[in-house]
Amino acid sequence: MIRKTILQINPYVPGKPAEEVKRELGLTSVIKLASNENPYGPSTNAIKAMQEACQQVNVYPDASSYQLKKAIAAHYQIDEGNIFLGNGSDENIKMIAQAFLNPEEEVIVGTPSFSAYDFAGLLMDGVIKRVPLKNHHYQLQDILAQVTTKTKLIFICNPNNPTGTVVSQQQLTEFLDELPSHVIVALDEAYAEYVDMSEFPDSLEYVKQERQVIVLRTFSKIYGLAGTRIGYALSTKKITGYLERVREPFNVNLIAQAGAQVAIQDGEHIEMCHQKNREGLTYLKEQLASMGLSWVESQANFMLIDVKKHSKQVFEELMQLGIIIRPGYIWGLENYIRVTVGKPQENTAFIEALKKVL
Ligand SMILES: *Cc1c(COP(=O)(O)O)cnc(C)c1O
Repeated sequence: MIRKTILQINPYVPGKPAEEVKRELGLTSVIKLASNENPYGPSTNAIKAMQEACQQVNVYPDASSYQLKKAIAAHYQIDEGNIFLGNGSDENIKMIAQAFLNPEEEVIVGTPSFSAYDFAGLLMDGVIKRVPLKNHHYQLQDILAQVTTKTKLIFICNPNNPTGTVVSQQQLTEFLDELPSHVIVALDEAYAEYVDMSEFPDSLEYVKQERQVIVLRTFSKIYGLAGTRIGYALSTKKITGYLERVREPFNVNLIAQAGAQVAIQDGEHIEMCHQKNREGLTYLKEQLASMGLSWVESQANFMLIDVKKHSKQVFEELMQLGIIIRPGYIWGLENYIRVTVGKPQENTAFIEALKKVL
């Protein structure tokens, strides 16, 4: 009855809501540092715009997201035709597979990385090739070695989730130069706005050079709009045109459009969030060093920490203390945990709890 490929896909298992954990454990507060959300939320201007938009939810959203595309185009100084919008990057990843992947064609991903790539590939009856990271970094040479005539898509998550590591512009350009023309590279840059590294690729240049790349950006992370579900892809007009063929007309809801359009114009808020994140990373590193722990250097709003103990146990014990993080064993990183950078008092509470647990 069921399609064979669907049996290879497991339903997403969400963590328990923080409120439920709080009630069950009889805690006074629960701090969730598990999903890399922005603890400062969206721009207050965006909140106002969304509140106003609530008055209009009896009408369908603008199927072309005209105003939002205009705002994104102005932000990057590109044409609206180079922009493609989805119900989060999650949907964009799925639509990339729907538009380009024939059954049996190969999708190459790094591992560990974001699971949505595997999902999208499997859904379209693709073959997933997983290329291990080394020392928590992508190995682009190893990926190149896996490319065949059947390869259609390569997903590079940069900075990578869950490691926080980055591929440099030089590495990426050399890699793209080597690829045959039947391959499309999706660069998932969900955390790009947090990067503090001059060698980070200017991937919009690849789009302008008409290379076969799709740059994935989202409003879920630094823009603080994860709950509204909106992400965008930047690519050549040819590729966005193909993606438009598989898009549902009203995939981006009216409130999300209103919020994102204003959020992208509030550079001050983004700079504040970026700065607070830098400070949070610095604080966490100082504390972890004083505890004798090591971590993976991160360019994102989360950190992979070697806790020298099985992460399932650490996860459960932290939960008892009201701190929710992501255990690394789910990615085969048995002794690591991934923690999102929170507000200062949340980071302090996490460190205090980690000290108790370890
Ligand atoms: C959080 C995240 C996203 C964002 O997905 P949305 O569907 O836009 O919320 C995309 N890619 C990676 C790697 C992420 O970690």
